[in-house]
Amino acid sequence: MNKKKNNFICDIGECTGCHACFGACPEQCISMKPDPEGFLQPEIDLDRCIGCGKCRAVCPVLKQYDGNETLAAFAAVNDDDNIRMKSSSGGIFTLLAENIINRGGVVFGAAFDDDLNVKHIMIDSVNDIYKLRGSKYVQSRIGDAYLTAKAMLADGRLVLFSGTPCQIGGLKSFLGKEYENLITQDIICHGVPSPSVWQKYLEYRQAEQNAKINKTILPEFRNKTSGWYKFSIKLSFCGGSEYIKTIDKDLFMRAFLQNLSLRRSCYQCHFKSLKREGDLTLADFWGVERQVPELFDNKGTSLVLINSEKGAGLFDSVNAKRVETDAVRAVCPNEAAYRSVDKPEKREYFFNSLCTENFGKAVKKYAKISIKKSVYNKIRSSGGRILRAMKLR
Ligand SMILES: Cc1cc2nc3c(=O)[nH]c(=O)nc-3n(C[C@H](O)[C@H](O)[C@H](O)COP(=O)(O)OP(=O)(O)OC[C@H]3O[C@@H](n4cnc5c(N)ncnc54)[C@H](O)[C@@H]3O)c2cc1C
Ligand code: SF4
Ligand code: SF4
Ligand code: SF4
Repeated sequence: MNKKKNNFICDIGECTGCHACFGACPEQCISMKPDPEGFLQPEIDLDRCIGCGKCRAVCPVLKQYDGNETLAAFAAVNDDDNIRMKSSSGGIFTLLAENIINRGGVVFGAAFDDDLNVKHIMIDSVNDIYKLRGSKYVQSRIGDAYLTAKAMLADGRLVLFSGTPCQIGGLKSFLGKEYENLITQDIICHGVPSPSVWQKYLEYRQAEQNAKINKTILPEFRNKTSGWYKFSIKLSFCGGSEYIKTIDKDLFMRAFLQNLSLRRSCYQCHFKSLKREGDLTLADFWGVERQVPELFDNKGTSLVLINSEKGAGLFDSVNAKRVETDAVRAVCPNEAAYRSVDKPEKREYFFNSLCTENFGKAVKKYAKISIKKSVYNKIRSSGGRILRAMKLR
């Protein structure tokens, strides 16, 4: 018998896939299913739904938001250059995670699974921090992470939960109350590419190399061999060959930075503001060479926004090189903090063409504009126009 299924929680174009509704449903009648673009969407089994409204009550998209006011901003780097080279910006996440685990706590963040899909996992050993380290430019599946975090918090464990602002918003909304033992860390977020676009890209590269990906060597989206500003994507294959291309040459990065492969909610993101979801925000400190030149060496510098006393306490207790700076000036070149990206006219054509054409052809057809126009070059510019666009203060 076909069961009745529907999503009446929030507008499908605004749904971030955060899983708050999934976790909150008392009847467990919401499942998260991939849509034709490969993004998870909630699907309600209407035969089991009792109409209690809890899913709508926790949906962060339907709620009025009032994030944390940013209290301070720092340029910061991890003293350990090996860690910094493996991290996306200044390697500050690793220091936060080490601190929490060394105090008996647990850390949630995005990791690859055995099929190189990205999902949120919990770790409680410093030996596992490498799994969360580094940006993965694919939407991370929350799965049971909110439920596990809630159980840990109820157990009195110290919890650091890291993720995109919509994931942190979803967690807080799902929890529905403050926990003294919870610290949240978000990122400045450009948007998230589709998991199925990522899988199609991997298939395309494997066919090109005529070799399977070596899954024991994790893919890198932010390899810094050519520097932090002009980073590379790196894949390792069975048999020892490697693929490494800078962002201006790689097709996955081209689709990402030209905003073709992003989730629909990222074009109308509810979480763009200097009023942040997380107790701390981590980002690339684009423009650091002008603003804090003493912390620039093109190996990566983090921008750390402190958004609560808890966030301040955690950052104070880690051993990072830091220089305090002005939050508005620091965030200014990083448009992703305060403005959603524009939706390309041909985005839907791109997704449709992935069903019939190979990955390379689809990207070359629809992501033709020069990478020079991409955000990672726009980030270098700043000015009054950007400040006016910022609803910061
Ligand atoms: C999809 C995405 C878009 C981003 N866009 C921008 C941007 O426009 N501007 C900017 O300044 N910074 C952006 N960042 C953040 C930046 O790249 C770094 O993640 C951040 O500066 C932390 O760097 P780090 O060196 O301290 O630690 P790292 O070790 O590099 O960061 C690891 C952290 O990133 C989290 N993470 C990794 N992948 C994901 C994912 N798929 N979903 C959720 N969390 C994830 C981990 O859980 C962990 O908290 C983005 C990150 C991601 C994942
Ligand atoms: S209304 Fe209640 S029972 Fe129905 S899907 Fe939402 S949370 Fe579940
Ligand atoms: S709670 Fe999250 S996953 Fe559920 S409908 Fe709202 S945004 Fe989508
Ligand atoms: S851009 Fe907004 S909606 Fe998209 S992943 Fe980032 S925080 Fe979520």
